[in-house]
Amino acid sequence: MSDGWAATLEADMRQRMVAACRAMNTSGLNHGTSGNLSVRLDARHCLITPSGLAYDAMEPADLAILTEDGRWRGPLRPSSEWRFHADIMRARPDAGAILHTHSRHATALACLEEGIPAFHYMVAVAGGSSIRCAPYARFGTKALSELALAALSGRKACLLAHHGMIVIAATPEKALALAREVDELAAVYLLARAAGDPKTLDEDEMAGVLGLFASYGTPDFPDRELLRMDEGPSGKTKA
Ligand code: 13P
Ligand code: ZN
Repeated sequence: MSDGWAATLEADMRQRMVAACRAMNTSGLNHGTSGNLSVRLDARHCLITPSGLAYDAMEPADLAILTEDGRWRGPLRPSSEWRFHADIMRARPDAGAILHTHSRHATALACLEEGIPAFHYMVAVAGGSSIRCAPYARFGTKALSELALAALSGRKACLLAHHGMIVIAATPEKALALAREVDELAAVYLLARAAGDPKTLDEDEMAGVLGLFASYGTPDFPDRELLRMDEGPSGKTKA
C-alpha cells in the first residue's frame, strides 16, 4: 500500500473514531471523559483516544498512535487504559476496534461483580453463552488488562467490576453497536431481576443460537421453510 493511500485511510479512520466517540456520549451510552476507543492501523500500530479529553472537544488530530509495546506519538497523551488496548490488540487478531465505556446499566451490574448470564438469547451477540465480569483492578493497570483479557476469552465483550465494559469488534461503528446491545442486555437483566428470578437458557440452546448468529442477516441464514415467491420448493427460480 502506498504511503499516500495509508495516510488517506488513517485520516478517514480518525474522523470515524471521533464520530463514534461523540455518538457514544450523545446517545447516553457514556458521559464526561469516561471511556476510550482504539482502532488497529496495522500489525503493530493503533489509533487511540487521548486521556481525559471530553469527546465534544476532541478533534481527529488529537488521537494518538500507540504501538503494541507501549510507545506513542501524538499531540496528547493516550488513554490511561492504553495497556488493555495494546494487550487486546496483540492477543486478539479479531479486534479491529476496542471500545470501553462506563455505560449506566452494564456498570450497575458490574458494581454487583456480576456478568450477564444466558437469560436472553441475545447474550450470544457477544460470542458466547454469557458475558463475563472481570474482577476489580484499578483503572489503567496491567492487572486490569490481564483480568479483562481473561474475561474476554472466546467473547467480544466483558464487564469490568466496579468500572464499566469493554467490547471488541471489526470497526468502531460495530463496536459502538455492540456496546449498545450489551448495555441494553444489562438493563433488561436488571429489570428482570428487580421483578423476579430470571431463568436462563441451557448451553444446548445457546449453542444453537450461536450457530444461527454466524449467518444471521445474510442470504445463508438456514431457514428452509421461508420461500421466495418466485422460487419453487427446491429453491430454484420458476421458469
Ligand atoms: P482516559 O480518559 O484516560 O481514556 O480514561 C477514561 C477511563 O474510562 C479510564 O478507565
Ligand atoms: Zn474506564
